[in-house]
Amino acid sequence: MEMIVKQIEAYREEISGLEINGPASLEEYRLKFLSTKGIVKSLFGEMRNIPADQKKEFGAVLNAFKQFAEEKYENWKQSLESQSDQGTVGVDYTLPGDPLPVGSRHPISLVRNEILSIFRRLGFSVAEGPEIEDDWHNFSALNLPENHPARDMQDTFYLSQNPDWLLRTHTSNVQIREMEKGKLPIRIVNPGRVYRNETISARAHCFFHQVEGLYIDEQVSFADLKQTLYFFVQELFGKDVKIRFRPSYFPFTEPSAEMDISCLLCNGKGCNVCKHTGWVEILGCGMVHPQVLENCGIDSNKYTGYAFGMGIERITMLKYQINDLRLFSVNDVRFLQQFTASI
Ligand SMILES: [Zn+2]
Repeated sequence: MEMIVKQIEAYREEISGLEINGPASLEEYRLKFLSTKGIVKSLFGEMRNIPADQKKEFGAVLNAFKQFAEEKYENWKQSLESQSDQGTVGVDYTLPGDPLPVGSRHPISLVRNEILSIFRRLGFSVAEGPEIEDDWHNFSALNLPENHPARDMQDTFYLSQNPDWLLRTHTSNVQIREMEKGKLPIRIVNPGRVYRNETISARAHCFFHQVEGLYIDEQVSFADLKQTLYFFVQELFGKDVKIRFRPSYFPFTEPSAEMDISCLLCNGKGCNVCKHTGWVEILGCGMVHPQVLENCGIDSNKYTGYAFGMGIERITMLKYQINDLRLFSVNDVRFLQQFTASI
């Protein structure tokens, strides 16, 4: 009898060490221990070989083992059933969740927002317009009539011809649309995406972003333009920055100028970024051409105005010392993540 009792102990240990992880292993267990040809049944068959004076003791051991094996079976069965009810296995709902990856604003958006907030403080409001534009609002109204040579500098993508529909080459179309509304004075900044038919390189792209500004009222002068832009660059780049204006030509302004700021890298001493001149061009500007005002139904004898325009990419490249324009549009997370702290 001692040997059989030891055998039963071994079975107990075997059962305790079992891992039931599904209906298949549970059934395997049932067949091995609890079925009519199973181990429990066959142990009861041993009863007849036990001496009569030990039958009672052996019966107690056997019954305890049977109960143990059956309870194990029931427990496993219940736990498998409750798992399938939940549809999940072993989920601990008290664990902390997976962290959501937090992105960052695109550097173009960061700088655009900063530019707009400076002009808002000066009383400018933000106006936006369509990227698909007709010939009048993109060219003709801006004193760029058909066959004007300056159109060659702003080749773009045409969606249809006669009548022409095209992707705007600048955000000046918004200025025309605002002036046509006839509500004066006008003091707006217009940000947006613009398009040019240009070969893509480190310094040029077929699309980029601009912010333009327009102020029209009685007695607006070039002095107002200069002071506004001076305030703007000091807010954006710091109080030490200097500005200079160079005469230039745009069909829609007269007089026209390009504005430079002193090089931020070398403080005017000369370096590769400023091509050893100490100055970096950042925007074009001028007094709105009287013909443009008349085109939009504004009396050019009574009203004057100034306009300016800048590329956001260019300002961003200067501000963050980025040397390739293409980085802004290739969606390289390694590049974009560097601006996380700027949110
Ligand atoms: Zn420099």
